[in-house]
Amino acid sequence: MKIIDSHCHLDDFFYDGTIDEILSNAAVASVDKMVAVGTHLRDWQFYCKFVGKHQNIFYTVGLHPTNSEMAEEIDALPGFLEMENKPIAIGEIGLDYHRLPKEPEAKAPAIERQKNAFAAQLKFAKASNLPVVIHSRQAFDDTFEMLTQSAIPGENVLFHCYGYGVCEMGKIKEFGAFTSFSGTITYKPDMAEPLKAANLNRLLIETDCPYLTPNPHKPKRNEPAFLRATAECAAKILNMRDGDFCDLVRKNTEKFFGIG
Ligand SMILES: [Zn+2]
Repeated sequence: MKIIDSHCHLDDFFYDGTIDEILSNAAVASVDKMVAVGTHLRDWQFYCKFVGKHQNIFYTVGLHPTNSEMAEEIDALPGFLEMENKPIAIGEIGLDYHRLPKEPEAKAPAIERQKNAFAAQLKFAKASNLPVVIHSRQAFDDTFEMLTQSAIPGENVLFHCYGYGVCEMGKIKEFGAFTSFSGTITYKPDMAEPLKAANLNRLLIETDCPYLTPNPHKPKRNEPAFLRATAECAAKILNMRDGDFCDLVRKNTEKFFGIG
């Protein structure tokens, strides 16, 4: 029952010297592939080198919406497609209205910055024919509108760490996009309904580590090995056998990222 962590951040583990331990824990837990997701230039550069030493780890490049004041870093994206170790997707990119400045006069410019960075990266992804990993928090309508306008086909879009409801899931299904669920399903009972509403052929799972530790591993720092707990919880909610569920999300993940 091998599984793929479709969204993790590994740079912290490297910088604090725990990466070898983390990767061996992942192997023991049968998490045999990982997608390390970029958030800004420094981690793109790190992953680009790092994946050269680890054939089972893939990486993406994208400026996270909460980093959009560093929009000039977007200019560095095309360079990564020229590297020997190429990224497999653009992300995580999108809109995050949860963490906006409190002052009303600072809010609008912050949203504007996020939208500009998102639009520029969608354009780049479309031109490069790469799939996109979307981070969207409290900004569903704007995210969805910009995605539709980008003309990127739904099958190349992944909503990571799904946190919206059943209604939004309906729109995503119609659009044909993929959704990924994180450890939040193990401690937020209201995520069960959107999970049940997801298109099973476009469903992925992820840790988003070092954040969002699933039960029963809280309050430890999250790591890829803990994906097993999320897989078991999701299989239970969906009334599937563990093995069938793991096979399904594995196939979906390989298809979305083209890493089969
Ligand atoms: Zn993330």
